[in-house]
Amino acid sequence: MKIYNTLTRKTEEFKPIKNGRVGVYACGPTVYNFAHIGNLRTYVFEDILKRILLYNDYKVKHIMNITDVGHLTDDADSGEDKMEKGAKREGKTAWQIAKFYTTAFKKDLKDLNIVAPTKFTKATDNIKEQIDLIKTLEKKGFAYKTTDGVYFDTSKLPDYGKLANLKNQELKAGARVEMGEKKNITDFALWKFSPADQKRQMEWLSPWGKGFPGWHIECSAMSAKYLGQPFDIHCGGIDHVPVHHTNEIAQSEAANDKPLANYWLHGEFMLMGEDKMAKSSDNFITLETLKNKNLNPLAYRYLLLQTHYRKQLNFSWSAVEAAQNGLEHLYNIIKTWGRPKGNCEAYEKKFLEAINNDLDTPAALAIMWDLIKDPIYPPETKKTTILKFDKVFGLGLNKIKKDSSKLPASIQKLVHKRNQARTDKNWSESDNLRKEIEALGYIVKDTPEGTKVSKI
Ligand code: AMP
Ligand code: ZN
Repeated sequence: MKIYNTLTRKTEEFKPIKNGRVGVYACGPTVYNFAHIGNLRTYVFEDILKRILLYNDYKVKHIMNITDVGHLTDDADSGEDKMEKGAKREGKTAWQIAKFYTTAFKKDLKDLNIVAPTKFTKATDNIKEQIDLIKTLEKKGFAYKTTDGVYFDTSKLPDYGKLANLKNQELKAGARVEMGEKKNITDFALWKFSPADQKRQMEWLSPWGKGFPGWHIECSAMSAKYLGQPFDIHCGGIDHVPVHHTNEIAQSEAANDKPLANYWLHGEFMLMGEDKMAKSSDNFITLETLKNKNLNPLAYRYLLLQTHYRKQLNFSWSAVEAAQNGLEHLYNIIKTWGRPKGNCEAYEKKFLEAINNDLDTPAALAIMWDLIKDPIYPPETKKTTILKFDKVFGLGLNKIKKDSSKLPASIQKLVHKRNQARTDKNWSESDNLRKEIEALGYIVKDTPEGTKVSKI
């Protein structure tokens, strides 16, 4: 299995630390708002990575953190804590905000058929581990105190910035950043003190003063706790390369004198026109927005699979609609097939080559469609192989039942009632009946030829 390693800038053969086992750490959401579909692109990419590892018979331990403290509105360690900001926005406590958006996030993962991580781990549940790590860094001379916090001294680490290949250019660009009392522009907060003039909701005692952890330290502390150091694969969105992951590496490697992770994988951005989709701007689209437009979250997943994870993807409504049509077409074909029997070895071989070539899902989808159109294999044989492919795609193909065009009497009765409501122009009644039918596992479509009902 080959994967592109941001650290070496090469596509490399993947070799796990322990035979047959893989430890994966994925940076999770900052739970101060809903995830937007750009964020969700990153989690789908990580899910595909994990499913491909499983397809290759690895046992995967997948850890995802929940950032519920310490992520400031500005990457340069200034600005407000996003959690406290979210709490003010909604008139709730930061703890309530964290709980609400964590639940919403998990629901999004489920809707997108993302296999849940082995463990979600919250930053606020691991404050002691973070303080211990900062103590080690202090003992080893990597930490210094200012009036607003404890900072990591990046000048003490000769290979600081190796992940992003940070050179003079970036450092010059960084010079525009507010230095405050920092010794070097790239130094970053390990611990921030609670502001004297402001009551924070989330704060803890530490050897340096009351406050809260910096954003990066949580991932160093929690990855070591659950996966050890080094572990196999660390992943996240591409924006994490120059700051967050660079600083995770700095802390973990300075503290323990060994690499943090062997492979670093990064998913490219989802764009809206020229801009990246961001939680702070008004081009913010959630999975709920898609669902409200009758778009199936799995159609969004299908759209994502059509672009390689290391390529930028421009969001458009017409693209999701086309993906939804493509997915429905796929479901309709599979509906006509009987029980799986036999398998198509030649296609399975090609498929494995594609997914093991740095997660090439666009090529893997093309192989699936070639197989569908192949005149030689019978449908039942195609079905075995395509259901196997879907262990990676995760498009819910195993839930597609053979179309037994006769509807059960109870559904027919509801459809009849709904037709009557439509004739009477009683739209709210007709809408309620549609929801009732859908809840029973059937799709209702009003076409020029009349109402069509089929199994989901
Ligand atoms: P956050 O909740 O802001 O910490 O971000 C969660 C994840 O989404 C991180 O891995 C980010 O790198 C990723 N991310 C943020 N914006 C985008 C985007 N527009 N497209 C793809 N991934 C993104
Ligand atoms: Zn992280």
